[in-house]
Amino acid sequence: MQRRQILKALGLSALVSSVSGGSAPAASAPKAAAGWQNWSKSLAPSKARVETPQTTEELSRLIQTTKGAVRPVGSGHSWTPLVPSDGDGKILRLDAFDGVRSVDMAKQTAWLGAGARLKDLSPALAETGLAFRNLGDIDVQSLAGATSTATHGTGKNLPCLAAEIKGLKLVSGTGDEIEISAKSNADLLGAAQVALGSLGVLTEMEMQLVPRHKLHRRVRFMPYTQVLTEAETMWQAHRNFEFFYIPFSGTAMVITHDETEAPDTPRLLDESDDGVMQLKALRDYLGWFPFLRKRLLGAAIANAPEENIIGESWQLLASERNVHFNEMEYHLPPEVALEALEEVRDLIEREHPDVFFPFECRMTAGDSAWLSPFNAGPRISVAVHTHAPDAYDFLFTKIEPIFQRAGGRPHWGKLNSLTGPQVRALYPKFDDFAKVRKQLDPQGRFLNPYLRSLFERSL
Ligand SMILES: Cc1cc2nc3c(=O)[nH]c(=O)nc-3n(C[C@H](O)[C@H](O)[C@H](O)COP(=O)(O)OP(=O)(O)OC[C@H]3O[C@@H](n4cnc5c(N)ncnc54)[C@H](O)[C@@H]3O)c2cc1C
Repeated sequence: MQRRQILKALGLSALVSSVSGGSAPAASAPKAAAGWQNWSKSLAPSKARVETPQTTEELSRLIQTTKGAVRPVGSGHSWTPLVPSDGDGKILRLDAFDGVRSVDMAKQTAWLGAGARLKDLSPALAETGLAFRNLGDIDVQSLAGATSTATHGTGKNLPCLAAEIKGLKLVSGTGDEIEISAKSNADLLGAAQVALGSLGVLTEMEMQLVPRHKLHRRVRFMPYTQVLTEAETMWQAHRNFEFFYIPFSGTAMVITHDETEAPDTPRLLDESDDGVMQLKALRDYLGWFPFLRKRLLGAAIANAPEENIIGESWQLLASERNVHFNEMEYHLPPEVALEALEEVRDLIEREHPDVFFPFECRMTAGDSAWLSPFNAGPRISVAVHTHAPDAYDFLFTKIEPIFQRAGGRPHWGKLNSLTGPQVRALYPKFDDFAKVRKQLDPQGRFLNPYLRSLFERSL
C-alpha cells in the first residue's frame, strides 16, 4: 500500500496532537518468537527445525530423510499456514539458491535462483538490461515464494509473476531433481507455475522478462464515486492503475504508472509507515465520530498535492511495509468486483469504525496456470487490511461471504477459510493438479495439515 502519499496528503500530525494531546502512536513491533513465524505473526510459532541447504544434494537428502512434513519457505510473507511444519518436520530456506544464473537477451529470459529476493534480483537484472514486467506492493519476497502463491501487481494487460515462468527446476518428494520447461516435462508447466510448494522445492526458475524501463508514477486523490465510474477507462488507459479507498473519507488515492523516457526526478523519502499510523490515530480518537473523522480526512485530502515521480520501474512499483497488518484479498470476476467493493465499504463504514487501513483495488490479466486465481481470464482484486494487533475475525464472518457470493478466488497467501472441496470447485484443473502432486510426491512429504486438507481430503 502506498502510504507515503497518504501522509503527505493528510499532514495530520498537528491535528491529531490537538485532539489527543500527544503524537501519533508508534508502529507496533512484533514480539520475538520461539520458532519460525510468518511476517504478521498471525500464525503460531512452528516447532519445526529450520535448515538452509547449500546444495541440491543436501536438499535432496533433507527431503528423503525428514520424518515429518518438509516445507520450503521464502520470506514468510504469507498468512495462510502453507509453511509451518511439526516437531518431526523441517522448514527449508533456499537462501543459498540465489542470483542471476544465465541470461538469454534474444528471448529476454533469465534463469534465476528460486530463493533470491525480488529486491535483489531487480537491480541485478537491470545491469543486464532486463526487468520484471510487473511487481506487487513489496519486493522482499523470494522469487519462489512470490510465484508459488500467484503474487500479482496491477495492470489490465499484466499477468501475475507466476505466469512469467518459462521453466523451473525442483527437487521432488522422492528427492529427484526435475526440470519442467519447454524442453522437458512441458505438460507439467501449468501445474508447477502456482503450486504452493506442494510439488517440490524450487531451486531455479526461468522467467520471461522485459527490457529495463522507466515509469512515470502519478498519485492523486479523487472522489471515490468518480473513481468507480472511471475505473474501467483508467485500467484501459494506463499501464498500471490501482486505487486505495480511504475508509470513512469518501475519497480514493489513485495511482498510475506509465512508461516514459523522461529524465528521472529526485526520489522521495518513504514515509508510508507514519502515514498509516496517522490514519490509525484518527481511528483511535475519532472512530466513534464518523462525521468528524470524515470532515478532518476530507479537509486534509483537499489540500493534497499531486505526486509525479519518474524512475526505474522496480524502484517505483514496490515499497516498504513496516507497519504489520493482516489481510484478506479475493480476486473477483471484473463484471461484479466493484459492486462487491461497494458492499465491503458499506459494511465496514456501518459496522467497523476500527478499520483504518485503506482497501486496495487492482486488476491482473488472465493466464493458464492451473491453480492461478487468474486462470482463464482477468480478475479485479479487492483487499481489506487490519492492523496486526486488532481483531480480524470479521474478515471471515462478514467480508469473505461478500467475496464468495461474487464468485471470488482467494489469494493463496492471504487470509481465507476455504476448505479443499470449496477450492476444488473454483479450479477446473484442480483434480489434474492433485494427480501431478501425488506423482511428484507419492509419500506426501510436502503435506503439512493445511495442504493435506486441501489436496487429500477434497478428492
Ligand atoms: C506486507 C505484504 C505485502 C504484500 N503485497 C502483495 C502484493 O502486492 N501482491 C500480492 O499478490 N501479494 C502480496 N503479498 C503476499 C505475498 O506476496 C505472498 O504471500 C508471497 O507468497 C510471499 O512470498 P514469500 O517469499 O514470503 O513466501 P512464503 O510466504 O515464505 O511462502 C509462500 C509459499 O511459497 C512456497 N515456497 C517458498 N519457497 C519455495 C521454494 N523454494 N520452492 C517451492 N515452494 C516455495 C512456500 O512453501 C509457500 O507455500 C504481500 C504480503 C505482505 C506481508
